[in-house]
Formats: sequence, structure tokens, C-alpha cells
Amino acid sequence: MHIRTRFAPSPTGFIHLGNLRSALYPWAFARHNKGDFILRIEDTDLERSTQEAVDVIIEGMAWLGLDLDEGPIYQMQRIDRYREVVKQLLDSGLAYPCYMSEDELNKLRDQQMANKEKPRYNGLWRPEPGKTLPAIPEGVEPVIRFKNPIGGSVVWADAVKGSIEISNDELDDLVISRPDGTPTYNFCVVVDDLDMKITHVIRGDDHVNNTPRQINIMKALGGSPPVYAHLPTVLNDSGEKMSKRNGAMSVRDYQKAGYLPEAILNYLARLGWSHGDAEVFTKEQFVDWFDLDNLGRSPAQHNPEKLLWLNHQYIQNADPVKLAEATKPFAHALGIDTEHGPDFLQVVTLLKDRANTLIEIAEGAKLFYLPAPSHSAEQLTENIPNTIKPALLDLIKAIESAEPKKESYGAAFKQVLAQHQLKMPALAMPVRYALFATTQTPAIDSVLVVLGKDEALKRLSKVLL
Ligand code: GLU
Repeated sequence: MHIRTRFAPSPTGFIHLGNLRSALYPWAFARHNKGDFILRIEDTDLERSTQEAVDVIIEGMAWLGLDLDEGPIYQMQRIDRYREVVKQLLDSGLAYPCYMSEDELNKLRDQQMANKEKPRYNGLWRPEPGKTLPAIPEGVEPVIRFKNPIGGSVVWADAVKGSIEISNDELDDLVISRPDGTPTYNFCVVVDDLDMKITHVIRGDDHVNNTPRQINIMKALGGSPPVYAHLPTVLNDSGEKMSKRNGAMSVRDYQKAGYLPEAILNYLARLGWSHGDAEVFTKEQFVDWFDLDNLGRSPAQHNPEKLLWLNHQYIQNADPVKLAEATKPFAHALGIDTEHGPDFLQVVTLLKDRANTLIEIAEGAKLFYLPAPSHSAEQLTENIPNTIKPALLDLIKAIESAEPKKESYGAAFKQVLAQHQLKMPALAMPVRYALFATTQTPAIDSVLVVLGKDEALKRLSKVLL
């Protein structure tokens, strides 16, 4: 079988990580099986769909590297096709016009509720052999309803939830086309999944209730239902359903906060799927390992600390050249001119082991690009005591003759410390202060390399004047 999967988002607003997971799994399943992955934009809800949401989806997927074989296909561009299929069902007697007005439907519902029955359409306009239908009211455009099978049940083997059986008695005749001729949601999904030859539908479990209806329509159209895998919801860190209202971040927010796409992908992969106890793995490994058998059955919970930890892992192990490129926009946003001053690649290499995000690297980098500090006389007396000045002078000399390497600078420090019988902080703190007007910096020998010998000597000499 040639595997074909799809991600079918409704572009009706906010796209959070949970939404993107619904793209990641079908993508991975298609890639694992050398099949096709399709993006379908379910934009028939004209009032709620926005181009901006479509853009966020497409950008987010591209950022994570979820490449497409087909699409984006917009449902709004397929309306004629849906109408054609409605007509086909009408012609073959598998659907029928229903003229029940909104008012009548409401009355029926009220009555059923009063009788403690489940509200449902009563089949008034459903044609049956020997049944006389009511007279067609004048000037009323009908809805079209699907003739759901009577009796029996719909059964499917859900790849996540196991066997699910829903009695047809639970399902009334679904409206597949509105009075103005626009097709309805569940109907479009079926036509698309059939036309697009989707073999595996991997989606959120909020669609479990739609599935028996979709299967019935699909069978009526002569299709065979795909394999369904309904993914449990993603909960936020306080155990509620993830949503903008309770503080979920959008994909773009993560990008802006300096997360690496590789870290997000790895994180999302584990949000409802596992491979033994593997936590950190490459995209290739993920594709290699991904299957439907190891999807979790219970809701996954978003864990921001774990995501940050993963991001740190990816930053630490990233190729420095790529990392520097990825960090540049963040540095520029902080006013750092990466083309002048210390070599940005060296700066990033120095900072990456302790950073959780690209923003943290950029923040740390600022130190090296700020102009040389000007200290006031009081600040100097306070931070660079006179007693340390002879050692500082010797250090300047030692640095001058040292090779511009971490090890040589380290040796220079050692030699001066021994000579003056000092401990490292007694010398390193004043040096840091002289260089940057702060005592918080990475290891001093590396800092000297990155700042550059000339600049460092200039700054150190100045405080001795
Ligand atoms: N458009 C639906 C959603 O965004 C998904 C439909 C499907 O995957 O079948 O929830």
C-alpha cells in the first residue's frame, strides 16, 4: 500500500504546539513509509478562517522542516467538487432534500428534550419505499441530508484507541449541504480524504465523534475508510486543555523566544509518542522509529522546563557556524553589530554551553560589543585596589608576550598568581571589571581570546594610568 497522510487544519486562529503535533505525526508516518504527506486547509468556515492563521501554519511547518508532497489544498477551492458529490448522492438516492425549517427543528428538539430523549432529526423528509412525504413548502430552499444506514453499527480499529463501535441508531441523517448550497464540514472531509486517497487519518481525538458519520458517508460513496489514529489531547502544564486563553504560546512565539526548530520537533515527537526511553534524537531517527503502535493513549502534558532543557541540549550540541547564523537576528535585535568587533562565531561558541535559548546567547554576546567602559575614579578605587596593581601590571606584560590562545592566557594568569601569591578571584575580578565594568563573565582566559589581545590590553592598561 502506498501510504498517504494529511494534516488538515482549520485556520481559525491561534496555532499552538499541540496543533503542530497533529502535523508532525502524519508527516513522520508518511516519511517513515516513503509515502506522501498532504496539507489541506479546511477553510470553509469563512467567518473564522484567516489568511494570517494559514500563514502561521505554513511557516510553522516549514520552520520545523515538515515538507509537503502536495498542497496546500484549500477546501474553498473545491466547492464545485463537493457539490458534484452531493448531486451524485442525491441521484443515487443516498441523500435527500429536507425542508424542515429551523423553527420546526427547534420545536422537535424541545419536545424530545422534554421527553428526556436525545435530540435528533426525526427523518420526516427521508424517503422510504411506500412512505408519503409531506408537501414541499413553497419558497423554501432545502438542506440536503445523508441517508444514514438504519440498524447495525459502525466499527473501526482505531490505531490509538483500539476497537470503537457506534450504533447507527445514535446517528441521525447528517446535513451535508446547506440551503445556500455550501457543503458542511464532515462531508468535505470525506470527499477530500477519498479524492486524496488518504490511507491513514492521524488527528486529534476531538474528531472521534465525527468518525462514524464520516465512515458511513465514505462507504456510501463506494470508498473504503482509511486507518484512523485519534491522538489524545495535549494538556498544558496545569493539566487543562491547551489554548490561547490559558497562556499557550504560538509557534511564532517559540521562534521569537529563541528556540531551535530541532528542539521543538524533538519535544513534540515525545508529546504522545515514545521509542523506549529515548529523549533526545535527531529528526532522521524520529522518522526511522515512528510508528502508530507507540502512540500514547492518555493525554500528553506540556512541560515547558523539559522543552527548555531540550533546547539547551540542541544549542550545546549545535554546529557553531549554524548556531551563530541562527543567533544573528537575535543579536541584531539587541543592537549588536555582528560584523564589527569580536568574531561572532567565537562569541557564540564561548556562550553556547550555558545558554538555554538563542536570546540568552545574544544577551551574553552584548558584553563583547559594548564600547570599552569608562570607569569613575570611585569605581576604580572600589574594584581595582591599589594592592593588586603590581600584579595587574605583570599580567599585562605576560599577556603581551603570550600566544593569543586560551591555554597561553591561562598560563599567564597562573604565572602571575604564583609570583604574587594570589588566588584566582583576587586577580580575575579586577581584570573582569577593567574589561567590562562587571564581574560576571565567562571564563576569563576564553574571554581574553574572544575580546582580542589588543583590545584587552588597551582596556587593562587604561585602569593603571
Ligand atoms: N480541520 C480539523 C481541525 O482543525 C481537522 C480535521 C481532520 O483532521 O479530519 O481540527
